[in-house]
Amino acid sequence: MTNPESDDRLAWKGEGLPFNAFGASLRRRFGGRIQRVSIDAGFTCPNVDGAVARGGCNFCDNRSFSPSRRVRLKRVSEQLTAGIESVRRRYKQVAGFLAYFQPATNTYAPVDQLEEVFRLALAQHPEIVGLAIGTRPDCVPDSVLELLEALAQDHDVSLEFGMQTMHQPGLDWMNRAHTHEHMINAIDRSRGRGFECCAHIILGIPGETHAMMMQTADEVARLGFDAIKLHNLYAVEGTPMARDVHSGAVTMMGQREYVRTVVDFLQRLPPTMVVERISGDAPPKYLIAPQWCLKKSVLKREIEQEFADRETCQGSDYRGTLPTVDDRPRPIDNTPATIRAQIDVRGRLPVLKIEGHTV
Ligand code: SF4
Repeated sequence: MTNPESDDRLAWKGEGLPFNAFGASLRRRFGGRIQRVSIDAGFTCPNVDGAVARGGCNFCDNRSFSPSRRVRLKRVSEQLTAGIESVRRRYKQVAGFLAYFQPATNTYAPVDQLEEVFRLALAQHPEIVGLAIGTRPDCVPDSVLELLEALAQDHDVSLEFGMQTMHQPGLDWMNRAHTHEHMINAIDRSRGRGFECCAHIILGIPGETHAMMMQTADEVARLGFDAIKLHNLYAVEGTPMARDVHSGAVTMMGQREYVRTVVDFLQRLPPTMVVERISGDAPPKYLIAPQWCLKKSVLKREIEQEFADRETCQGSDYRGTLPTVDDRPRPIDNTPATIRAQIDVRGRLPVLKIEGHTV
């Protein structure tokens, strides 16, 4: 059991913050500002190519990673260099960068190809301190987790799971094509391997009551994630959800309700959990609704003010013991056979083809 008094993960409490904010936690760890640089390595998704479903999640603009990719991919090295230069133009002082494998399912390839592209990113610039890898709960076979465990011995590695909700009707509504059982299985096989596990959660899924969202908060706490990204449900053009939002069949949470729900949610999480995001948004020209999510700094201030008005903070309603190492047995890998089969036969990632094996 960790002694809370000596736990660095609780340092935010002494800094007057209402929650364990990501930027501050990185500063503490690395001694300065750390920025993410997004990389598209050419992955697709088992929810798009038919391995588990077609069409993808209803909120996801997955045309960009369909087999006939619209945009010719740049080499990983070019993406990283351009991303780093762009961050440097914006911020004078940056202590390091995280290579963020963001679009599609970034563990959906044979392990040797994953290793090649992840090591390529880590070796590209001395200022790259680690990786963030976005994926689905049903696409992390043990072989992938073993690779990440090896990479995490020398680098900061975060595996980001699209959990979204613990409730099956919500998962079905989004066409996630996985169950919450997949999420439980994946986190129980991932924890204790030396890399960070982050949950992506969506608030405001149609049909989900406040009580259901709080059940998801308690489940995120119980499962022992190291970090969380909270997103409001939002709709962008070109997605299956867009039509329903345009017709009024789907409506979005209001700003005030979202602020209160985020604070309720964070109060139920362990104070050790890093909060990587408190809202989601999209480029204005693609965003349909809600428009309020574009004002991120306003939202952040309102969330901080809500904590101040309540005189609470992250973890004030948390009733568990602080999570330490894995205290549940590691289960048998339940990655669907259809995903395994695809992984085994899948060709080289487009970006690796473009790289032509030259690192
Ligand atoms: S699982 Fe992720 S990448 Fe795949 S369709 Fe859904 S949101 Fe898009």
